[in-house]
Amino acid sequence: MTRKERYAFVLDYFKQHAPNAETELIYDNPYQLLVAVILSAQCTDKRVNMTTPAIFEEYPDVEALSHATFDELFPLIRSISYPNNKTKHLIGMAKMVVDKFHGEIPMTVEELVELPGVGRKTANVITSVVDNQPNMAVDTHVFRVAARIGLTLNATTPLATEKQLLEFIPKELVHIAHHWLILHGRYICIARTPKCDECGLKPVCKYYQKNVKPGVKAIG
Ligand code: SF4
Repeated sequence: MTRKERYAFVLDYFKQHAPNAETELIYDNPYQLLVAVILSAQCTDKRVNMTTPAIFEEYPDVEALSHATFDELFPLIRSISYPNNKTKHLIGMAKMVVDKFHGEIPMTVEELVELPGVGRKTANVITSVVDNQPNMAVDTHVFRVAARIGLTLNATTPLATEKQLLEFIPKELVHIAHHWLILHGRYICIARTPKCDECGLKPVCKYYQKNVKPGVKAIG
């Protein structure tokens, strides 16, 4: 099986089984998504979703958040991982959006990564989810799942994974493929013990072929 054929199988599988995959973060607008994604670093979406309603009620827009003090915001996110840094990042982000971007969340990766608390992964998430831009955010799930299946070869950094995925995934599918891989990693191809018995990607998965059923030849 060629790499191209492996990609085709995987993308077809997800198209059929998860045609409406989307982020599990709850948000109403780009501002809310940006806050949620910054908070989601090293934290579950579920926990973030429990936290954001109070933040959005107190700070309904980026202008309001830009006036928050550390002591006001911190109690609202203290149950999330790294609350100190995230409090500072959120306030810093809001101030910069107001001062430098006229209160509008910028929609290019280059501009977004200027904001405190926003790295390449976050910028890719925002631009792909809000604007369907063909940017691939590589988190721990995407990194692991892509490598296990064999979509990436010897990719040792998130950036290498991103580049290899972008080389093979058609532009119009990149934004949804990001969710496919994340959700697959979160619920099926989990880190410690992947649920291969429940997985429809077995026929093309290199990990399965090598580690789970060494006597059974998968395709390719
Ligand atoms: S077959 Fe197993 S290792 Fe391969 S993608 Fe599915 S769950 Fe992950």
